Amino acid sequence: MQITFTKTTCPKEKPDPATLGFGKLFTDHMFMMDYSREEGWHDARIVPFANLSLHPASTVLHYGSEIFEGLKAYRRADGKVQLFRPIENIRRMNNSAERLCLPTIPEDMAMEVLLTFVRTEQDWTPSAPGTSLYLRPFMFGNDETLGVHAVHNATFVIIASPVGSYYKEGINPVRIMIEDEDVRAVRGGTGYAKCGGNYAASNRAGERAEQKGYSQVLWLDGVERKYIEEVGAMNVMFKINGEIVTPMLSGSILPGITRKSCIEMLKKEGYTVSERLLSIDELAAAMENGTLEEAWGCGTAAVVSPIGELCYKGVRYTVNGGGIGEVTQHLYDVLTGIQWGRLEDTFGWTCGLE
Ligand SMILES: *Cc1c(COP(=O)(O)O)cnc(C)c1O
Repeated sequence: MQITFTKTTCPKEKPDPATLGFGKLFTDHMFMMDYSREEGWHDARIVPFANLSLHPASTVLHYGSEIFEGLKAYRRADGKVQLFRPIENIRRMNNSAERLCLPTIPEDMAMEVLLTFVRTEQDWTPSAPGTSLYLRPFMFGNDETLGVHAVHNATFVIIASPVGSYYKEGINPVRIMIEDEDVRAVRGGTGYAKCGGNYAASNRAGERAEQKGYSQVLWLDGVERKYIEEVGAMNVMFKINGEIVTPMLSGSILPGITRKSCIEMLKKEGYTVSERLLSIDELAAAMENGTLEEAWGCGTAAVVSPIGELCYKGVRYTVNGGGIGEVTQHLYDVLTGIQWGRLEDTFGWTCGLE
């Protein structure tokens, strides 16, 4: 496909890697293309990073038709840049699009534009330990009318942000609050789609947890408020009496690529991994009788995040003495090893830029 390129006339200076945070700085360019029912996807272009101009009646501003993805480009020791399972992000984005009545993008087209954009911006991939170039593809409904209906016009954009190491002082256990009031998603809703609306609905609980000194909330299912779903922007896994347990994908949980990678890796290594219902009662019992050996969240940003404390209805439980479990550490080491190219990728997960 034809992708036009308008080079910036004022390239920015590359940031000092020591000052990198998350999603505050952006590269020189962004990718954009537009969709209409008549023309399909058209006008693919890489343009200087700039504000978007939207009609005040644009669908996304009123009815929340928005989906996004998150993945990283990693700088290997040999200087080359690689992505981690990008086809999984593309497939998930299309599933999200289908749920929100946004247009899908053919997989080969999506892969081509993603790789072309990353190649254009690859100099922005930092090389300090733990740093990467975070890629944020997103799509929104862009009809210029207040009528409510499936979207006829949409815009797809990819922006990129050099990000620092999630763990400045090595991997660190977090404190998590189990939310028993708000819910994030219900089966039949948009829980499995990566859409902005899910985040808008979860901010209140996140804010409350933060005020109490917790870093994120653990969500229970929206119907019985009994079954564990996920943690903030991460999936969640537990080691209970030797068994690795993670909530099954019921429709209200985001199908994380890190989750999938952990499951595939642990199964290959001979662990018993169960994707099943896990009730808060079973978890509380395991915390009380000491059979909960480890708990961790997993997602692209943190890779693996050990959970050191869980709080449910005011009762605080320490997990694994507040330390980092063996499986948690192992997953972190192997996944980051593959992502940054330090370990051989026996799964075929990485995708290098030529
Ligand atoms: C993106 C996301 C995850 C993690 O998915 P990864 O593909 O592993 O990054 C988990 N939960 C929610 C709600 C998310 O938005």
